[in-house]
Amino acid sequence: MVKKILMCPNCNTKITIEGNPGEKIYITCSNCESKGSYEFSNKKFTSEKKGNSYALEVRNLSKSFNGFKAVDNVSFEVKVGEIFGFLGPNGAGKTTTIKSILDIIHADSGNILFNNLDILKNEKEVKNYIGYLPEKVAFYNNLTALQNLCFYAEMKNTSKDECKLLIEEFGLKESMNKKVGQYSKGMVQKLGMARAVLGSPKILILDEPSGGLDPRGVVLIRNKIREMRDKGSTIFVSSHVLSEIQEVCDQVAIINKGSLVAKDSVSNLSTKLNLKPTIKVEVEKISDVILKAVKKVKGIDKVDRDNNYLNIVCDPKTKAKIIIAIESAGGNIINLQTKEPSLEDVFLRYTEE
Ligand code: ATP
Repeated sequence: MVKKILMCPNCNTKITIEGNPGEKIYITCSNCESKGSYEFSNKKFTSEKKGNSYALEVRNLSKSFNGFKAVDNVSFEVKVGEIFGFLGPNGAGKTTTIKSILDIIHADSGNILFNNLDILKNEKEVKNYIGYLPEKVAFYNNLTALQNLCFYAEMKNTSKDECKLLIEEFGLKESMNKKVGQYSKGMVQKLGMARAVLGSPKILILDEPSGGLDPRGVVLIRNKIREMRDKGSTIFVSSHVLSEIQEVCDQVAIINKGSLVAKDSVSNLSTKLNLKPTIKVEVEKISDVILKAVKKVKGIDKVDRDNNYLNIVCDPKTKAKIIIAIESAGGNIINLQTKEPSLEDVFLRYTEE
């Protein structure tokens, strides 16, 4: 029996459930009565896949449009069970890479392997275990949300009940029987996400999942991504919302002008760039003497004063020296916080002109 604590996607109430590997549990939130389901990861499947450590391998992928190289010799691999973030500025080549990976557009050259299978030679088998959220989500506008999902559910060999549960989970219960043509952009996006996770695919490919969503919707998608990973899916997600990627991704790759410029965990990328944390110190009263004393501490890159706060970019080891310097100069420290370098810092450095 495995115990799991979940957050209700609707009201964020903690829900504790118990089940066996592979078992699907139907849940009703005790607070808001939202309904949902959770499938415990099937350990057998995960361990079977351990030998084959890559869910996706992209080798030397290139794609041009009328002589313009949108994707230029891109290679990376995504490990089984990880969340892999794919970042890049507008027009960098993210969607072109994703469409080429899925053979929605034909790459000029390169190899794509899903669990060691070449997608070009095993398209049907491979696509059976992939869930995909495109950048521009489209449905049959004259069909209702439920009819649309049921249409895809047949292809994924899953049930109408799962469609209903997912629609509810994504907060669209009231509009389940409304035609998708009458849906707002955010509603279509949520329905697109529901379609992508239908049938619990082994690999989930999400192109800008937060597009058009309000903050609650962004949290909903983020929780769903984590939940899918916990259930054993491998997730490849492209996004502009860097904070979101930073929170959920095990690895990131950054593409710029068609070429891959970085690939690692966020913290390793920060280390490689020698990005330092910012220490934010709240001092009761900041005098020039205090400021001078802090600036003198060795290992400090930058000091900014903002009312009663000092924002100090420095080597983490200098924290104690900073405290001593402030207090020796007569300062009374009220609070001290450390902010690690963010993915935004990493992204800006790798994509700067
Ligand atoms: P965004 O974040 O803005 O969605 P992206 O990183 O997904 O951007 P792509 O859509 O892959 O970028 O586009 C990469 C480049 O390829 C852009 O310069 C784009 O204009 C070009 N491109 C994409 N599709 C086509 C096409 N069908 N015909 C011609 N050029 C294209």
